Amino acid sequence: ATPTALMVGTGRGAQLGILIKGPEVLETTRKVDTIVLDKTGTVTTGRMTLIKVHTAAGTDETDVLRLAGALEHSSEHPIAQAVATGAAAKAGTLPTPEDFANIPGLGVQGVVEGHAVLVGREKLLEEWAMELPASLRAAKEAAEKAGKTAIAVAWDGEARAVLEVADAVKETSAEAIRRLKGLGLTPILLTGDNKAVAEAVAAEVGIGEVIAEVMPQDKVDVVKRLQAEGRSVAMVGDGVNDAAALAQADLGLAMGTGTDAAIEAGDLTLVRGDLRAAADAIRLSRRTLGTIR
Ligand code: ADP
Ligand code: MG
Repeated sequence: ATPTALMVGTGRGAQLGILIKGPEVLETTRKVDTIVLDKTGTVTTGRMTLIKVHTAAGTDETDVLRLAGALEHSSEHPIAQAVATGAAAKAGTLPTPEDFANIPGLGVQGVVEGHAVLVGREKLLEEWAMELPASLRAAKEAAEKAGKTAIAVAWDGEARAVLEVADAVKETSAEAIRRLKGLGLTPILLTGDNKAVAEAVAAEVGIGEVIAEVMPQDKVDVVKRLQAEGRSVAMVGDGVNDAAALAQADLGLAMGTGTDAAIEAGDLTLVRGDLRAAADAIRLSRRTLGTIR
């Protein structure tokens, strides 16, 4: 590739809302055959809202909102923000937690008004030897079947509620996936979220392959595994939990709307957080390098 052609390519990239770290990136961009997409904040808006509270028998909804909301107020996770915002709207000023801890990929824990509270995946409760009662399990399964995220709330050793949180798919995602497939790439949805939610989102945007319930530190291994199969892998992500996978991928694409860690780890930034720019980037690199061979 001649330097002039590369400069033209990167200049056009800027117009399309793509920032390229260096001209050498175009070469790898041209070759990728597989594109791994993080779900939350990448394929979906990441702006979730609390839509429903299912309480166990004898549990007061306002207590659930106060205790869960208080903990989630201290977390930056998109789910946490939805819970905290929804809780504050319905239950008013939230108490301040003590001993707050964020457990990546699982949820949050802490002490609120003297109660030991957990908010997160069912797996988090299981680690503390708690399980959902039948009524909450049914609510969780129905919510997940509908593509919603169900979050468990427990305190003082008992599961008390399931919160339904919904994250909308970005308007541009389905078109982006169509274009990526048109360029011959195989899309794969990768998420820490559960399989039912991941599959509902994948179906909505036209992704046929789903790798779900992956812990943040294991995302990088998924990329390595695909590479070991001989694939040339692009990874698109926005979160701190995507940074290692973005660095490992043959081509890392960071959402410009995402975290600094992701942007630093990526080779390329999709400035507006619009996935269609990923397809533009690949088309652009093929065209730029194709014309000069
Ligand atoms: P993703 O890979 O989709 O960006 P994460 O790895 O950050 O998701 O989290 C995986 C799952 O863990 C979430 O879908 C959620 O069920 C749970 N979780 C993580 N953090 C929190 C939190 N602060 N509050 C509630 N649930 C959480
Ligand atoms: Mg994410």
